[in-house]
Amino acid sequence: MPAPAASSANPKVGFVSLGCPKALVDSERILTQLRVEGYELVPSYDDADVVVVNTCGFIDSAVAESLDAIGEAMAENGKVIVTGCLGKREDVIRQAHPGVLSISGPQDYDSVLGAVHAALPPRHDPFIHLVPDTGIKLTPKHYAYLKISEGCNHRCSFCIIPSMRGDLVSRPVDEVLREAEKLTMGGVRELLVISQDTSAYGVDVRYAERQWRGRAYQTRMKALCEGLSELGVWTRLHYVYPYPHVDDIIPLMADGKLLPYLDIPFQHASPRILKLMKRPGAIDKTLQRIRRWREACPELTIRSTFIVGFPGETEAEFEELLDFLDEAQLDRVGAFAYSPVDGAKANDLPDPVDEAVKQERLARFMHRQAGISAARLEAKVGSVQRCLVDAIDGELAIARSMADAPEIDGVVQVQDGRAAGLRPGDFADITILGSDAHDLYGEAL
Ligand code: SF4
Repeated sequence: MPAPAASSANPKVGFVSLGCPKALVDSERILTQLRVEGYELVPSYDDADVVVVNTCGFIDSAVAESLDAIGEAMAENGKVIVTGCLGKREDVIRQAHPGVLSISGPQDYDSVLGAVHAALPPRHDPFIHLVPDTGIKLTPKHYAYLKISEGCNHRCSFCIIPSMRGDLVSRPVDEVLREAEKLTMGGVRELLVISQDTSAYGVDVRYAERQWRGRAYQTRMKALCEGLSELGVWTRLHYVYPYPHVDDIIPLMADGKLLPYLDIPFQHASPRILKLMKRPGAIDKTLQRIRRWREACPELTIRSTFIVGFPGETEAEFEELLDFLDEAQLDRVGAFAYSPVDGAKANDLPDPVDEAVKQERLARFMHRQAGISAARLEAKVGSVQRCLVDAIDGELAIARSMADAPEIDGVVQVQDGRAAGLRPGDFADITILGSDAHDLYGEAL
């Protein structure tokens, strides 16, 4: 929970934020508005007059975690407002916790704020309750998530996000650029662009053109990246769907305008499984494109996620996936054993994979990729990497290179970070001296 504000005479709200970066941005917006209205944000259940729980409902384990968090808030405080993805399944929440005050879905800011007002009327003093221009951030001061759209037009058979968040709705590009500008003026050094599908940005508004800083920009991924490059900070793209037009942004990466980093979920490599997933299936073309991207931008880091044990996946199809890993030589990879999500079309597919087989395939997959990731990190030993410092820990600085997104990738441990005078938010050139399966080790001086 965020640090409490100065006054003790104000209504106090506790906040529990679960789920993905999209949910985190929703939490930031709600928290910002609560502070604007004079609410005090407190870090413990005991101090709170009411508790808001922003939930996740993506997979069964996230549902369980959300229900547990609601239960804990009910037991510790008793006045609980629920919002977020799991809010779309009111019956599930009501059944487990009938006493919650209100339930709303993702991005339903009005409902959450209305529920807080009903439980705890605001007392606003604009002279005391100053909110930074950048709003309340849950991330460190030097990086921030930038949400460019809501919803998704795809219908991947394992996913229920479109039914929870609806079809794609893009924010106008000038609005996003203004928000990014404000963030960088507030000290942000790295912008993490998020959405459900970053490469589809603007398709719903037919790439409408808008003005920013006296220049026309289309509401389109490439134009957005060009605008963001004017701000002189790192820009990292997440959740890029494997469309052919991803090719368009590789030159921006090669020119240093955009971090040479693609978070692009491939999910599988067998054309038949990809078809069952309702995802692009031409894996040969994907491999060719990866090769071309790397030719144009040799520093490119590719992060991806995969699902193993999808219904009907045969041993041979799983082997195709392992072969793809060998060919693609991805830098960072996350994987999940398929788990049926309530309401997903994939649940109706025949031949579910036995749980033990799924786990065995997941272990083989991770083992195969661990060797690849470790070798790719080892190849950086001896190089100098531009890094952004996240924290100082004793003598060490914990930093990230251009290849490392916060929370999901590794770090660069700088052994002489304190001696070199590094501080969180600083950029520094680090000589890489060693590596392991996840992290790099180096020195600044
Ligand atoms: S692209 Fe992502 S959010 Fe959209 S349906 Fe597929 S998995 Fe879900």
